[in-house]
Amino acid sequence: MYTIDKDAHGNAVRTNVGTGVSERNRDTSKTSSAIGPKSGGSRPRFRAYGRRHIGQIRQLGRLSRHQLTALTVASAVMPFRVNDYVLEELIDWSNIPSDPIYQLTFPQAEMLDEIDFSRLKTLVMTGAGQDMIQHCAREIHMRMNPHPAGQMELNVPTVKGKELPGCQHKYRETVLFFPRAGQTCHAYCTYCFRWPQFVGVERLKFVTREIDLLVRYLQGHEEVTDVLVTGGDPLIMTSSMLRKNIEPLLGEGLDHIASIRIGTKALSYWPYRFTTDRDADDLLRLFEDVQRSGRHLAVMAHYSHPRELQTEAAREALRRMKDTGAVVRCQAPLVRHVNDSSDVWADLWREEVHLGAVPYYMFVARNTGPRSYFEVPLVRGLQIFSEAFARVSGLARTVRGPIMSAAPGKVLVDGITTVNGQKVIVLKMIQGRDPKWANRVFFARFNPRATWLDQLEPAFGRREFFFERSLREMAMDEWQPSWKDKSVPEVGSIHRQSRKRLTVPMDPRSAGGNESRAMYIQEQVIPDRTLETDHEGNGNSHV
Ligand code: SF4
Repeated sequence: MYTIDKDAHGNAVRTNVGTGVSERNRDTSKTSSAIGPKSGGSRPRFRAYGRRHIGQIRQLGRLSRHQLTALTVASAVMPFRVNDYVLEELIDWSNIPSDPIYQLTFPQAEMLDEIDFSRLKTLVMTGAGQDMIQHCAREIHMRMNPHPAGQMELNVPTVKGKELPGCQHKYRETVLFFPRAGQTCHAYCTYCFRWPQFVGVERLKFVTREIDLLVRYLQGHEEVTDVLVTGGDPLIMTSSMLRKNIEPLLGEGLDHIASIRIGTKALSYWPYRFTTDRDADDLLRLFEDVQRSGRHLAVMAHYSHPRELQTEAAREALRRMKDTGAVVRCQAPLVRHVNDSSDVWADLWREEVHLGAVPYYMFVARNTGPRSYFEVPLVRGLQIFSEAFARVSGLARTVRGPIMSAAPGKVLVDGITTVNGQKVIVLKMIQGRDPKWANRVFFARFNPRATWLDQLEPAFGRREFFFERSLREMAMDEWQPSWKDKSVPEVGSIHRQSRKRLTVPMDPRSAGGNESRAMYIQEQVIPDRTLETDHEGNGNSHV
């Protein structure tokens, strides 16, 4: 027996009263001659399992009592969500807990520090109320650097003084759009830097349903050529809902929007979204319509491990997607316990090319969430990238990495060299807040332990990296990138008050040494204001 309900993220679900397991309620399908054939067979039904369903996940019966307790405790902080496809087709249950997809989707005790874990464990084991457990979890969340690159302070655009809280405009050409109904995923990655979207703290989320406001913003910003629809995973939405969010972006006054990008892991976590879901054909038809409007449709696919590309369902999903004319570009972070090996990356890139997708980015795991569990030193990351790169054909060498998506921009760790006797890390800004920074090479002192930009020191005796002064002034509203010129009055002014709360020393070193400087580059701002009213929000793009 079922009841129609909404899940925690506002999506329509059917709930089996007997089991409490949720199942998404999809649109009725129509057929299209333009859409490639799908293979026959049954229609898998989407069911999401979270912390409440631990007792119903048959495969978890293989865990020891100790492992099960650890999962129950850790998942109070790190949200988890899986489905039958992930459980049955992707995880190798004979290799628990080391299996990479298990590590990718199930929280581990070591993701929390020992003190936090034991506090929570005591609460869970003594049957403390949900309020107390949640209170403790929230306190841990707030120490996990929820928005690591100044996203809430520096990237939120405005229209005539009104903020667009579910949008981000950091790079001149690209606006990110977080539609309200697209803020969950078919499964959650334990390393996700968009975790604030899932933990139920409204003021930490980016989300909007104000598509009209976004359209007005875009109409006034002809420098924007790309809109990235992201989340969570926008493909969690029904096709009709996705259409409502995308079609306005193709309308009047928006001829300058040349590309619609969609960030998704559905190709991996729920490939039936493109094949046998009731509205799969509608989705592909929407992709065709975008391209018929003269735009490029870029699917930014998130694949973390070659296993995600090896099932029949995954391959068919990719084939059908490509048949629409969309270009699938693949990206993922380098993550310890999941893909920290050159063999894995070489296999992944080869498989992507074999299936007609384009290897695009290897990211550095971001400085948020349970980073100490996942982080790989930059120097080691470069070694893994280089070894994998050396093993693949030129067609796979479209990939770039390792790349940090940091406050100033996307910083490529490009090499290690020695200049005048000093060993240095060669860095390159491949995308910057100021377009003038793009492709600029700069150098950091060699540091084999650093895992993020804030842990690097400029080489050759320089006091700071070239972008630091601009960023500092930007935080104080004394500088804007050249494209945000003063003829766009609404940009910046709305944030003046909130930015003043940032503690940014004029000279970070004199005002507190490396620690202050690290704080500044990292912009560890814990937001203390509610950015939204009634929005909800899902995340795999990297701004
Ligand atoms: S937003 Fe992307 S990285 Fe985050 S949980 Fe969803 S699929 Fe994983």
